[in-house]
Amino acid sequence: MPPFEGSVLPCFWRAFPELVVSQMSFQEFASVCAEVEGESAKREKVKVISAYLGRLGSDDLETATRLFLGTLLPKGKRLCVIYSAVIRAAAMIARVEPHELEELVRRYGDVGEAVEQLLETRTSAVPLLSGSTLSFSLLRSAWEAMASDSGPGSGGRRVRILAGLLSSCSPREARYLIRSLGGEMRIGVSEGMLEEAIALALGLELETVRRAHTAMADLAKLVALAKAGALPLEVQPMQPFKVMLAEPAGSASEISSARPLWIVEDKYDGIRAQLHKLGRRVAIFSRSAEDMSDRFPHLVEQASVLPDVVLDGELVSEEGGRLRFFNLQRISRSSSHGLRYAVFDVLYLEQRPLRALPLVQRKEVLRNLSLAFPPAFFAVPYGTASGADEIQEYFQQALARGNEGIVAKDPQSYYELGARGKSWMKLKQVFDTIDAVVIGAEWGHGKRRGLLSNYVFAIWCGERLCPIGKAYSGLTDAELKEYTKLLLENSTGESHGMVLLKPFMVVEVGFQSIQRSSAYESGFALRFPRIMRVRQDKGVDEADDLEKVRMIYESQAGR
Ligand code: AMP
Repeated sequence: MPPFEGSVLPCFWRAFPELVVSQMSFQEFASVCAEVEGESAKREKVKVISAYLGRLGSDDLETATRLFLGTLLPKGKRLCVIYSAVIRAAAMIARVEPHELEELVRRYGDVGEAVEQLLETRTSAVPLLSGSTLSFSLLRSAWEAMASDSGPGSGGRRVRILAGLLSSCSPREARYLIRSLGGEMRIGVSEGMLEEAIALALGLELETVRRAHTAMADLAKLVALAKAGALPLEVQPMQPFKVMLAEPAGSASEISSARPLWIVEDKYDGIRAQLHKLGRRVAIFSRSAEDMSDRFPHLVEQASVLPDVVLDGELVSEEGGRLRFFNLQRISRSSSHGLRYAVFDVLYLEQRPLRALPLVQRKEVLRNLSLAFPPAFFAVPYGTASGADEIQEYFQQALARGNEGIVAKDPQSYYELGARGKSWMKLKQVFDTIDAVVIGAEWGHGKRRGLLSNYVFAIWCGERLCPIGKAYSGLTDAELKEYTKLLLENSTGESHGMVLLKPFMVVEVGFQSIQRSSAYESGFALRFPRIMRVRQDKGVDEADDLEKVRMIYESQAGR
């Protein structure tokens, strides 16, 4: 046990006693970082890193690669160390008041550099622990401990662990240790440069490493496997891959001119997700390979009935449409419950890689598989279209279904990992928007029977509100249900089947273009209007006026 006074540090060492003896030192990693940071030529940086990586064994290679990428934890796992905890821990070790350190941070613009300077100049800092340098294994354990600790008192425990780590750091190590907490090393190294360094270090072709990186989106894991002679080159269950992407198209005719026949499907406005199942294990990864499994427990549970499989698709709302008001960061276990998984591709099924099959055949496999899908899963419906008119028609239908456009896919294409090419092309509705006041609403039909689902909205013409359009698409059934109640509470009567409303609700209305029209009092009408959202943050007075509409109309001429 290192002999020094001060209450926090000894308990840190007690937590990891067996790990004080190290294999690979963080000190060496830090001096490589310093060399790379001081080097401006990209080729030289790559050389320095590859020489270093070449000396490491499998585990340390994984740790070092992760650290170069800026974090020690696997993708998707977050370390909740807040700025103030770093400041408190570093100030404790440097024996200064936190505000003195914060002053330095302001001066250097970087916490790591500020702490390095402070430790270098403060003779009263807690002395380095004799004979022990920070090892990769200790660092890994400390990070794991910090990442898995939550609940009461966890903030204080993290500060103590950090202080413990810093107490065994040289000032230079502290600089990079602290940067790794911020998720960025700031030494001018990109993923592409790391790929080059790995290829050089392991004697592999750069193309081979790049290809492997698309099949396994976690570079640190990849390098460990490569060192063990098992470079992953194909999609495997439980191993996140880089998803295929679509090239944007400006019009249906641009798509049709690229090839004569297309598979067309709705473009859902949700969250891209790859779902992997192997034996009893299920994992859901984001587009950038983050593990999101624990945010979607109902999907993980329902996937247990599937065979071993790798699927690609989009997480969508309960009705199978747009995912509104959500973003990935805000989705919690409970709010995710209504989500469904719209599956549009299958890349692996029961030990068979399917990536190289033409899309039409993968769609056939998916159709068969979908017969046994659990309730929250569905195979994305699709059609075929040839020529601009058919593509445009499918596009209009997709918008009418409340989706944001279409993705057209070459029926003969294989699944290209990580590629944005002309095999998939997306066509989205280009929306201008105005904020308008809802002044009336009509009852829906069919599925929307009993719901006020067709909103009439108006803009300010001087002191008066004058109607400019009507929209029945955009809002989900759940939202319509909620707003029907609210609208009825604000009704002032009914006229010609329309519930009249006192002005209280502002909606953001998206549309493709504005036309002159005598149908509405404003003198304008919107083409393909769609309610984007209710502007709860805006009062009726803040809705847009005729002037704004005129400006948009005039700006269209220039497009
Ligand atoms: P964007 O985010 O506008 O670049 O569009 C690409 C995204 O559309 C993809 O990453 C998917 O998340 C999403 N998407 C929605 N529906 C589909 C679909 N049917 N096929 C492929 N991608 C889709």
